Amino acid sequence: MNYYGPRELTGQDGRSTGRYHFASANDYRTAPVGYCANGCSGHDTAEEAREHFKQYLVNEKVDFRPDHMKRPERCKICADWTRSYARVEAWDFYPLCKDHLTKESVARLLGEMNDFVAAW
Ligand SMILES: [Zn+2]
Ligand SMILES: [Zn+2]
Repeated sequence: MNYYGPRELTGQDGRSTGRYHFASANDYRTAPVGYCANGCSGHDTAEEAREHFKQYLVNEKVDFRPDHMKRPERCKICADWTRSYARVEAWDFYPLCKDHLTKESVARLLGEMNDFVAAW
């Protein structure tokens, strides 16, 4: 299992640097993930690191599926009936009407990017 959340970066000397990446960690290693794994020099706060990972999810990991559900469900934003949904990675699923089938809606529904545990 890997634990995901903001981690403080340590320098070559093993001391903390006061900067954060959003990272995955297990017993053996800690590694930045998402945009933080891509030349990001770290963030002043854990919250900024969370936000950076959220941007990554919203921009890279959302699948929009218009008219894809057999049974309509209520849009998570306006409660209209819809057969469309957005999926984030494999773990979040949001029914959204056509008007709300957008990255903005997904960002709003994700809210604060909490820590999570995953097999990947
Ligand atoms: Zn970052
Ligand atoms: Zn809606």
